[in-house]
Amino acid sequence: MSKTDEALTLSPEKVASDLRKRISGDVLSEVWQRAIYASDASAYFIMPLCVVLPKSKDDVVEIVKYASENGIPLTARGGGSSLLGQSVGEGILIDFSKYMNKILEINPDENYVVVEPGIYKSVLDKTLEKYGKMFPPDPSSSDFCTIGGMISTNAAGAHTVKYGTTIDYIISLEVVLSSGEIIRCRRLKPNSEEWDELISKNAHEARIYEGLRKLLEEHGELIRNGFPKLSKNSSGYRLDKVFEDGFIDLGKLFAASEGTLGIIVSAKLKIVDKPKHTILILLNFD
Ligand SMILES: Cc1cc2nc3c(=O)[nH]c(=O)nc-3n(C[C@H](O)[C@H](O)[C@H](O)COP(=O)(O)OP(=O)(O)OC[C@H]3O[C@@H](n4cnc5c(N)ncnc54)[C@H](O)[C@@H]3O)c2cc1C
Repeated sequence: MSKTDEALTLSPEKVASDLRKRISGDVLSEVWQRAIYASDASAYFIMPLCVVLPKSKDDVVEIVKYASENGIPLTARGGGSSLLGQSVGEGILIDFSKYMNKILEINPDENYVVVEPGIYKSVLDKTLEKYGKMFPPDPSSSDFCTIGGMISTNAAGAHTVKYGTTIDYIISLEVVLSSGEIIRCRRLKPNSEEWDELISKNAHEARIYEGLRKLLEEHGELIRNGFPKLSKNSSGYRLDKVFEDGFIDLGKLFAASEGTLGIIVSAKLKIVDKPKHTILILLNFD
């Protein structure tokens, strides 16, 4: 029996009681509570071992460490509106929408916003409107999907052709790795001063950047030429966007990654001026 198979035989009460000692957020382990989270917008029904509603990134670190120590699978969840079963799972489910849903900073002069992952897209829209700004990716699920989910699925909507998709608006991300370490995923130029300083620390973060640089050296041409030029591409890790203009943009690796690489705990995103007027034109073709 693998460590994970064994972990999944643990009782929900035991896991919940362990987690309650380590985090300040809510831990849900009753059958009816877990049943609510056993489905999303897909056709799947998978009961989680327990559900946690973290209140801070420290909570997320503790949850990730506990899951790693015990071999329990983790699934992050925002609005649960994805259509393919990505936000259900049999291990611990982390729901960001209840507490970790705040706007941490809005800078209309420099056109960026910093948010927690559980903020609903429509809530962000309403706030940005007061500043005459907008976050352009506009999936039709905007009323009930979160920024964490949008990043992880590289969501987009009717205006993709003009504005691009969520990946185009990621400036940097704070992410919790499976080790429990928090890293800042940003755009760095190999061999720049900032790069050399990071690499000299020999931290986990540095090894990730170094690994990507090696990948670029060995397979740069294939990556540059092998990706289709589409207005929306959410299929797998977007290495084409990670390696652009001589930079390594680690934040973009998390777009469309479906929570497989780490847990996003905050995101710095580009915003743009909201058009003063919009118009719908209907063209008829004979
Ligand atoms: C009616 C309807 C219309 C839709 N229309 C569109 C559309 O126009 N365009 C479009 O692109 N999609 C659309 N979708 C799909 C879906 O709404 C989007 O993909 C949305 O962005 C998912 O966001 P969510 O918050 O619901 O994420 P969830 O479904 O909760 O999660 C989606 C993925 O993100 C991961 N995730 C969530 N939070 C984090 C985090 N903090 N860290 C790491 N990983 C995380 C999850 O593990 C999962 O893999 C639609 C869905 C429905 C039901």
